[in-house]
Amino acid sequence: MRFSNSYVGLGEVFYERIRPTPVRDPQLFLWNSSLAEQLMIPDELKNDSVALAQAFSGNHILPGSEPIATVYAGHQFGSFVPQLGDGRAHLLGEVLDQFGQRWDIQLKGSGRTSFSRGGDGRCPLGPAVRELIMSEAMNALGVATTRSLAVVTTGEPVFRETSLPGAVVTRVAASHIRIGTFQFFAAQGDLPSLDTLCSYAIERHYPELRTEGENQYVLFIDKVIERQIHLVVDWMRVGFIHGVMNTDNTTISGETIDYGPCAMMGIYDPQTVYSSIDTMGRYAFGNQPKIIHWNMARFAECLLPLIHADTNKAVDRIEPVIAEFPNRFETEYMKMMGKKLGLTSLEEEDRNLIVSVLNRLRDRRLDYTVTFDLLTKSLTSEAAASRMKDELGGHFEVWKERLSEQHMILEEVQKLMRQHNPVVIPRNHHVEEVIQECVETGGVTSAEKFLQVLRSPYEELAQTSEYQDPPSDGDENYQTFCGT
Ligand code: AMP
Ligand code: MG
Repeated sequence: MRFSNSYVGLGEVFYERIRPTPVRDPQLFLWNSSLAEQLMIPDELKNDSVALAQAFSGNHILPGSEPIATVYAGHQFGSFVPQLGDGRAHLLGEVLDQFGQRWDIQLKGSGRTSFSRGGDGRCPLGPAVRELIMSEAMNALGVATTRSLAVVTTGEPVFRETSLPGAVVTRVAASHIRIGTFQFFAAQGDLPSLDTLCSYAIERHYPELRTEGENQYVLFIDKVIERQIHLVVDWMRVGFIHGVMNTDNTTISGETIDYGPCAMMGIYDPQTVYSSIDTMGRYAFGNQPKIIHWNMARFAECLLPLIHADTNKAVDRIEPVIAEFPNRFETEYMKMMGKKLGLTSLEEEDRNLIVSVLNRLRDRRLDYTVTFDLLTKSLTSEAAASRMKDELGGHFEVWKERLSEQHMILEEVQKLMRQHNPVVIPRNHHVEEVIQECVETGGVTSAEKFLQVLRSPYEELAQTSEYQDPPSDGDENYQTFCGT
């Protein structure tokens, strides 16, 4: 692995130089071989599980890596915290993959840093497995996300309510620059560092803006908004609830990051919340568009002093970009929902159809994934069509009529629908079952089997049917946890 450390080059105010704390007995638990292939991890390392465990626990620092813990701030549940930072993570550096794309390689659960506050710097095995499973599933679903290269057990206990096996997960990300990274420097009024960070982020993620001169900051905001809209629309497409959309968990690259309390929505209901600490439902499924709008406004605020020394003038320039967010989101969201229903273009009337269908799902407490899967199948299956007729009532006929106006062969419509409607998602009860087996038995058989299905979410493999069932209790009592 050839590391470079461009983030280190930004200067000491951006991070603390610190090595991972070695662990007693690192053992390779899960390994993402296709990602390893993409990252061109050399054979001599790849074929040596002892060396992999040493490297991806943080016990052995690979040549060229300069570990750091990055600093950032963030709004957590709406309240600003001026300093957060990697309290249990170490950025080992960056590598170029086989396509020349740069990736951050970060260990999570790798020990304390100066940003740990009261925390132990560690991660239990369960949440590490959860991050790998969920991020692999999201990637295969076609949703922009950080990836997971490895889970290594540490041979050390982690103390939460009980004693749990510890682990280190290796996160691979287009970068770890967050809205909160900008907020950290903006809150301090450190304009030179803010400017350095902007140039770096633009160079790394939006190089086409480099030549835009003084206009580039507004365009930068616009581009980040575009990617975040794309991301959250994709979340809504597959029923993903992030659970903790704090500004420190919102990236500039537009990738899903931080799989702590996330969950998948079963029964369609915009008010669905699973996170134990989200008592107000701030991060409920249907609130995600509003929250990402709010986060983008916090991001734009950070850049005000770079846009114009006169705050009023700067505000005048970003105001329209922020104000148009709801319409922009709505347009993309409706286009996506239209495709879930097989519509290649969206007429004004289609909005009513979409809203009526979704209301029907909510009122009849229908499963989101199952319903759209059956609708897809209903184009060629009498059984599926008859069930959907029952479930959707008159809306089914309206939809079929609308489809016939497109003058497309049904197989083509079905293909379009299938691209937007998975046959399987990482359902909460299956994720928990697999995690529990990993933690209790120390074995990975069930995790590997589950992953194989999740890596083809638009295809029915031999074992897919084992994971399609909605939870028997509709996830009524399901809860997820933060800061694990
Ligand atoms: P998160 O909820 O994972 O986004 O984390 C919020 C903040 O808490 C970040 O600054 C983390 O680095 C920090 N944090 C979470 N868990 C731990 C831990 N076990 N030890 C130290 N810091 C932690
Ligand atoms: Mg976080």
